[in-house]
Amino acid sequence: MLFRSEYTGDGHALAYHAGASLMDMEFVQFHPTGMIWPPSVRGILVTEGVRGEGGVLRNRNNERFMFKDIPPLYANQTADSEEEGWRYTQGDKNARRPPELLTRDHVARCIRREVREGRGSPHGGVFLDIAWIKERIPNSAERIKKKLPSMYHQFKQLADIDITQEPMEVGPTTHYMMGGVRVDADSQMSDVPGLFAAGECAAGLHGANRLGGNSLSDLLVFGQRAGEYAARFAKENSLGTINTQELASAEQWALRAFERKGSENPYGVQRKLQDIMQDLVGIVRQEQEMLQALERIRELRIASDAVGVDGNREYNAGWHTALDLHNLLTVSEIVTCAALERKESRGAHFRDDFPAKEDQFGKFNIVVRKGPNGEVRLTRESIPRMREDLQQIIEEMK
Ligand SMILES: Cc1cc2nc3c(=O)[nH]c(=O)nc-3n(C[C@H](O)[C@H](O)[C@H](O)COP(=O)(O)OP(=O)(O)OC[C@H]3O[C@@H](n4cnc5c(N)ncnc54)[C@H](O)[C@@H]3O)c2cc1C
Repeated sequence: MLFRSEYTGDGHALAYHAGASLMDMEFVQFHPTGMIWPPSVRGILVTEGVRGEGGVLRNRNNERFMFKDIPPLYANQTADSEEEGWRYTQGDKNARRPPELLTRDHVARCIRREVREGRGSPHGGVFLDIAWIKERIPNSAERIKKKLPSMYHQFKQLADIDITQEPMEVGPTTHYMMGGVRVDADSQMSDVPGLFAAGECAAGLHGANRLGGNSLSDLLVFGQRAGEYAARFAKENSLGTINTQELASAEQWALRAFERKGSENPYGVQRKLQDIMQDLVGIVRQEQEMLQALERIRELRIASDAVGVDGNREYNAGWHTALDLHNLLTVSEIVTCAALERKESRGAHFRDDFPAKEDQFGKFNIVVRKGPNGEVRLTRESIPRMREDLQQIIEEMK
């Protein structure tokens, strides 16, 4: 279970520091299956396609644990036998999907439970097994290589595992931020005039939980709109002036880490932050742990101001990590504050101390702004009434 290393939260944090509102920051999606071993590849995604082709999840006792926990809401859409689940993956339109293909957050929570209750795999995940299909079809190895070529190569090259012959070890990994910059749905402009956002750093489109595949269509549609309105804004408004003093102090700030050789290591601070967010604000959350996380994040902020790096400015990954810490800490603090405020469970946000979905929490978004003293300011803002025709579609889908 990991917070990804390549996400820096720059889009969210830059907008926040510029005065824009962020919304839905408590909704962080975990993908249930990331690689967990060896350590150098922890977090690399293992596509849902593996489960779609018949891959199953098992614990260390070889039990297919997903059948134990099918949420009542999905019971009538979920296979009630391994046989039916297998037929679904082979294209039988009369079969229902296997429980391994339930929503990402649910599967991630089930994996976490197996691990916490001592039934995990040797490196702290569970087993994802596609090799077993040899019991069902001839030439299964060829089929797996043909249908899942990138997964075959990924495991072979990075973990020396032949997925046609043996199971993979997997665990939940952070995947997507549903929350982000609050924007106007048509123009994609934030509440800072001239600041536009689209894609993963914007909020609102995916609610509390994104469905797989919807990000790329989001980018195409709303990226285009953002570009169009940003161009229009640029034509209609004159260029602002750049404050040269601010520029000089930003430059000074960025270069400070070179003057502190031998002090705190940026990778160490990043690693500690990942662990804090994973353990205390992860897939299953509760108040006491999140309060502890806030305290630790504040300590790490102090540590991040002491990081030092060697070398020069060219291709210096240590320096980049030192710079990234600022935004990573900002976003982590905001996610934690918003998650504390949402005292219910909804979508990708699950609270152990408030496990039910509450109607009253479905009526507002949690909006975050930077306060005058740099503090995180939260407000609950009513969700505007939905257009009748759209409301009707939702009712029909229930
Ligand atoms: C492994 C994986 C698989 C996925 N598969 C799917 C899928 O199958 N279907 C789907 O719909 N979605 C998928 N997603 C989600 C989807 O890919 C992402 O949500 C989407 O690519 C985000 O696009 P973006 O343009 O908003 O952000 P990004 O792609 O993150 O682009 C942000 C850009 O900003 C740049 N940048 C960052 N900081 C700065 C800075 N300070 N200054 C200047 N530039 C900066 C970055 O270098 C980057 O180029 C997947 C995600 C992952 C991680």
